[in-house]
Amino acid sequence: MDSLHRFSFVNLPVRGQWVRLQSTLVEAAQYKTYPKPVSALLGQMLATVAMVADNLKFSGAVALQSRGNGALRRSLAECRNHGQLRGIMHLTDDAGFPHHGDDIGAWLGDGQLALTLLPDEATDMQPYQGLVALESSNLAGCLETYFARSEQLQTRLHFANGQNDNEQSVTGLLLQRLPTAPDASDSDREAADDAWETLTALAATVTTEELSDLGVETLLHRLFHEYPCTLQPQTALEYQCTCSRQRTDSTLMMLGKEDLSDLLLEQGEITVDCEFCGKRYRYDGQGVGRVIDLLEEDNSSSSNPPLH
Ligand SMILES: [Zn+2]
Repeated sequence: MDSLHRFSFVNLPVRGQWVRLQSTLVEAAQYKTYPKPVSALLGQMLATVAMVADNLKFSGAVALQSRGNGALRRSLAECRNHGQLRGIMHLTDDAGFPHHGDDIGAWLGDGQLALTLLPDEATDMQPYQGLVALESSNLAGCLETYFARSEQLQTRLHFANGQNDNEQSVTGLLLQRLPTAPDASDSDREAADDAWETLTALAATVTTEELSDLGVETLLHRLFHEYPCTLQPQTALEYQCTCSRQRTDSTLMMLGKEDLSDLLLEQGEITVDCEFCGKRYRYDGQGVGRVIDLLEEDNSSSSNPPLH
């Protein structure tokens, strides 16, 4: 099962998160196939929003999205309600894809990457968007700078995309230094600095195979066995898009009977692609007829408001 664990080091101001996605990535690619580095990047983006969402104290959505003039025109990874993920990558139609590897800046070209927090309306909180500077060639490096600047949190992040048989998987390991208490003594501060240096140096020794293959307990033991650490119970993550035939019906209803009929005549069928997962909803003559029926039902019920 796709899951996320939080952990913290005993008596040290360092916390961490471990996340692994497998079925989410398989499902995210069910309506669109991507070149390998692009699906790897989508996996890392989904792992990122899952980790950010896990730290939210309110309910809502976290989105990491990009826009650019490179081969990757637009991308979106989103986590709703702390565990429901969806994502999509929009590439240029060029047949031959460039060999950018995992260089995110090269894929985006002249572009922007942004992290958005969208609290549910009921929370009464304002949405927030921060730009993630493309100063590093990989997503992990860009996010480390983002957390340091926007949240004043020193962060180390490692991603490993699965290899060979396990290609459609991604694992993320994040370490974050917690602020030192204002009344901490100089020696406490020094000890915290040393611990951070040591733990991040140990984390940096992780190999792609270790990170993508080992379970969280084995991994933490292998990397940090001299530093006792508390592992929190897992948070389940799953792929889920909010699109449906019913929602697509409502979108089409907004076009009105005349435009729907014209469109059907012109194209033979009407297709609607979900912007978030790429799923294609097809409407043939019968399907469009059903939408027009719904539209007429709607019109007749609104023109005859119930009497009170
Ligand atoms: Zn969808």
